[in-house]
Amino acid sequence: MRNVLISGAGVAGGTLAWYLARAGFAVTVVDRAPGPRSGGQAIDVRGVALDVVDRMGLGDRMRAVRTRMRGMSMVDGDGHELFRSEEFALSSGRLDSPDFEVLRDDLVAILHEATDVEYVFDDSITALTEEPHGVRVEFARGGFRTFDLVVGADGLHSAVRRLAFGPAEDYLRHLGQYLAIFPTANFLGLADWQVWFQHEETGGVAYPVRDNAELRVTLGFGSEPLPRLSVPEQKKLVAERLAGVGWEVPKLLDAMAEAEVFYFDAMAQIRMDRWTTGRIALVGDAGYCASPLSGQGTSLALVGAYVLAQEARPRGARRGLRGLRDAHAALRRAQPGAGHRKPRRPGVGRVVGAGEVRDQPRLRKSTSAADVRSGTSRWGKCPTPGQISGSACGPAQRTDADAVSGRTQVSSAPCSCSVGAAIRPPTASVNRRPSPRNWARNAQR
Ligand SMILES: Cc1cc2nc3c(=O)[nH]c(=O)nc-3n(C[C@H](O)[C@H](O)[C@H](O)COP(=O)(O)OP(=O)(O)OC[C@H]3O[C@@H](n4cnc5c(N)ncnc54)[C@H](O)[C@@H]3O)c2cc1C
Repeated sequence: MRNVLISGAGVAGGTLAWYLARAGFAVTVVDRAPGPRSGGQAIDVRGVALDVVDRMGLGDRMRAVRTRMRGMSMVDGDGHELFRSEEFALSSGRLDSPDFEVLRDDLVAILHEATDVEYVFDDSITALTEEPHGVRVEFARGGFRTFDLVVGADGLHSAVRRLAFGPAEDYLRHLGQYLAIFPTANFLGLADWQVWFQHEETGGVAYPVRDNAELRVTLGFGSEPLPRLSVPEQKKLVAERLAGVGWEVPKLLDAMAEAEVFYFDAMAQIRMDRWTTGRIALVGDAGYCASPLSGQGTSLALVGAYVLAQEARPRGARRGLRGLRDAHAALRRAQPGAGHRKPRRPGVGRVVGAGEVRDQPRLRKSTSAADVRSGTSRWGKCPTPGQISGSACGPAQRTDADAVSGRTQVSSAPCSCSVGAAIRPPTASVNRRPSPRNWARNAQR
């Protein structure tokens, strides 16, 4: 039996572990967190990624804990509603979509519970050495082990990427924004309704989760890349940058100061020209982070993990390593500008009018890396932050791969740009009503 080490017990790591274990690999997952990580906002499972979780038999469990927003408001500094929608929510897209939005911690917990592999928490990889018959891995808590394959699923700031491919600066593209995310009690009394605000280079959203008992708050601001900061320094900076912003922001900043679970990171993308080196590979944000602005990172992680494992499965565990490497080589060729072959007819639904999707792309019985290369798995391309216009990012979005293949691409929803969308002032999509209503009253309706 071949053994695989996966660094990162997040979405990509958990999914890859599940599929590889089923294919007969002995899987170990190491994560530097003390357990499955809590915190974060809701993240989206879209398009072909729905098939990935359904094939694991976990789709219904995830849908059972999905967020259930009735809509959203955008408010100004006085709490006056500038815009409202009961058709879509900025975090997730159309409310009638088969795509679903689920709290990141719920998704990761479900993956963790369902995956019968060796998990090692509170540890991380400090050195990787390729040897003739495996990769020698050294760990922060001491000791070393040798694995046939090592996969970095350790997110935007991947240690595996740094150790095997070089420093983050070589691959990281900063998008000019930072986000802070934390939970607090639902002191705003929101009922299945999300409220967004924006003010100059800052913005944010609060929405209720867990039967409206809890609020998940995201606060963002525009900034050049920052040096590494401690959590108290991060909170101080967020408070400084959002000082003087109206609405309920002062109370949200007070809540942030008390929050024990706190996530702060840059909006950034990872762009690489290869995802494998020898027996070491990358999947998810570690290799191709699209940023939360895209609303696609989770689906990309799910499908990337699935394709890797799917390539290994028919070959059996013994030949699986070559399959994994082939899959990565194929995925790499599918990257923008990397010389695409003419696509086969993709097994997807009809292309329909702007912003409309009647049939979701579906995975065929056995979707392979070649399908990804040919465009069977498709997502819209998120615009750069400067192009984001408050509520929707443009209905018909073409990926670079589509540009190469000449196909029309329809995104599955108004781009669910996360709070980054709110950092820019709203444009034409904002309906400035003559007699603004109070957001809180609306939120209760
Ligand atoms: C706490 C948290 C909150 C997030 N909140 C949001 C959100 O609100 N909205 C959004 O769009 N996206 C959010 N993301 C990112 C989102 O989860 C990913 O973009 C997407 O799901 C792709 O998943 P991934 O598995 O590739 O990476 P991630 O989900 O980032 O998972 C990476 C995993 O690797 C672990 N890890 C990191 N470094 C190391 C290391 N050196 N050694 C071992 N393990 C390591 C992390 O603890 C984590 O468990 C969040 C990520 C995290 C970690």
